[in-house]
Amino acid sequence: MILRTGVFYDGTLAAPKRNVDIVIDGDRISEIHSSAEGVAPDATAACITPGMVNAHVHLIGSGEPNTMAAIALANPNQLMLTAVANAAKSLRAGITTVRDLGAPHGIVPALRDAVNAGSVPGPRMRAAGRALCMTGGHGWWIGRAVDSPFEARKAVREELLDGADCIKVIATGGVLTKGAVPGNAQLLPDELESAISEAHRHGLRVASHAIGTEGIKNALRAGIDSVEHGHMLDDEAIELFKARDVYLVPTLSAPTCILAHIHEGAQPAFVVEKAERVNEAMLVNIRHAFEMGVKIAGGSDAGTPYNDHDNYAYEVELIHTLLGMTPQQALHAATEVAAELIGLHRGTLAPGEPADLLLLTRDISDDIRTLRAPQRVIKAGTTV
Ligand SMILES: [Zn+2]
Repeated sequence: MILRTGVFYDGTLAAPKRNVDIVIDGDRISEIHSSAEGVAPDATAACITPGMVNAHVHLIGSGEPNTMAAIALANPNQLMLTAVANAAKSLRAGITTVRDLGAPHGIVPALRDAVNAGSVPGPRMRAAGRALCMTGGHGWWIGRAVDSPFEARKAVREELLDGADCIKVIATGGVLTKGAVPGNAQLLPDELESAISEAHRHGLRVASHAIGTEGIKNALRAGIDSVEHGHMLDDEAIELFKARDVYLVPTLSAPTCILAHIHEGAQPAFVVEKAERVNEAMLVNIRHAFEMGVKIAGGSDAGTPYNDHDNYAYEVELIHTLLGMTPQQALHAATEVAAELIGLHRGTLAPGEPADLLLLTRDISDDIRTLRAPQRVIKAGTTV
């Protein structure tokens, strides 16, 4: 297959190329060169980019206003059906790789394997299985309780047995769990260290939910690979991020979507109150972290209130508008950087790389919102 494009972004920060042909052989890219005269392409587009990579999703959630209740009250069959539908929806919207950070019942590892086998449509996937939280802590409804270093180590082994290929830990309270205070630390340093060292011994990376300052620093000092949310980070945390080369996945969509739908009145009061406080911190601190050189990876927390799986382009747009990245830098965060964190592939378009790409109607530098509606999505060389 030969694709011809007016402007080409490969996912890196290299200058975009003009008038390029991309040749796909099977599931990979074989050549990229200047448009060849006399060769008829199979498709043409104004702009081509890599498929988007969402480093933070929950496939069992569909943006219900009371996400905790919707998930806690659903049975495993219902959650699996939701996850299957959301996987297909993500792929059609141009998200060709996701990392799921929390779901019970072995749902996402099973779905990942079915997608890899070609039985159901969906993005390439990594799955954390159940999140590790303290008893009564944030995320118990997508997680499992651990209350000592011993239990944390055993939990990692059990998630490994259940097919997890990354691990999620909960270092602070959160917005969506009734009673959990986002600013408070939850899993303790020795519990985090135990989970992280066990996961690393088996080659699994660890992501930490962390909103409050103390919990963010606990996770960073314990050797975490990525901090999710990170909204109340301070300058000391920024130094730790940089010294330890840790990714920040700011999930800007999560509070933004909650606050954009307050007028509908469908969300629990505790969610709205907490989202307002978290959002204030987020608007100041995340931009500061980016400006200070912290690595930002794209991830939207899709599945949380009004935060749909097919709306990841909105997160890319927020990375551009709220953090001050150029459209190309925002795309880079949502392709190469997020892919580097997930560790399945490079997230860039080059000979030998997987042919996961988007044909777009406009140059993303003219209008980043063009990512919302790709004219064609290709995963592994096949049009979705
Ligand atoms: Zn999440």
